[in-house]
Amino acid sequence: MIKLKTPEEIECMRRSGGILRDCLLFLEERVKPGMTTKRLDELAYEYITRHDCKPSFLGYGGFPGTICASIDEVVVHGFPSERRLKEGEILSIDCGLIFKGWQADAARTVAIGETSEEKLKLIEVTRQSFFEGVKQFKEGGRLGDISNAIQTYCESRGYGVVRSMVGHGIGREMHEDPSVPNYGRAGHGVRLERGLVLAIEPMINLGTWETVGTGWDCLTKDKKPSAHYENTVALTSRGAEILTL
Ligand code: MG
Ligand code: MG
Repeated sequence: MIKLKTPEEIECMRRSGGILRDCLLFLEERVKPGMTTKRLDELAYEYITRHDCKPSFLGYGGFPGTICASIDEVVVHGFPSERRLKEGEILSIDCGLIFKGWQADAARTVAIGETSEEKLKLIEVTRQSFFEGVKQFKEGGRLGDISNAIQTYCESRGYGVVRSMVGHGIGREMHEDPSVPNYGRAGHGVRLERGLVLAIEPMINLGTWETVGTGWDCLTKDKKPSAHYENTVALTSRGAEILTL
């Protein structure tokens, strides 16, 4: 069941979203070659708890971290570890928090030091596809309009759109209805209404869209890199408002 949010509830989510936006900026400024993803995870935990929030990933379904740290061919759900980041890798940092009962969820993919042109392009296409999706997040439209815009933008450029993971509604719970696939048919799916809040999150591969993995692992089938970009977005009287940017 979809839970539409009142303007007052969206105001609360705007606050959680603002803290998460700042947390991700804080992490992006600090990530560098040689750093372990465990250290980055500690920084995220400290930041979130210092701002009177709770990390929403920690313990969720047994997840061991505050962030998901997914390197190169890892699509999402990478566990923070003692593994050191290497120059040239790309890292997706996915993070969620709860402030006064309201969730925010967002992800960024960053290059570790200098990286290849093709990885930089992958990061940029993934990010831009999110904005192509948001352009379709408007009253009277259908969920499939968002999905289709993301898919079309990426596939027309030769990238693979992950099918095994999707975006979601968000509110008091991290994962609410509806599911928000990054592929689909325009004009189909639930009607987009004021008060709908979605985590829109393209997961885009340099090569095939296919993924492999069981349990937490989600890797590209061809071991080529994958990028992730996510924000929590509310549909208000002023249109789509990105709460985590
Ligand atoms: Mg996320
Ligand atoms: Mg999400």
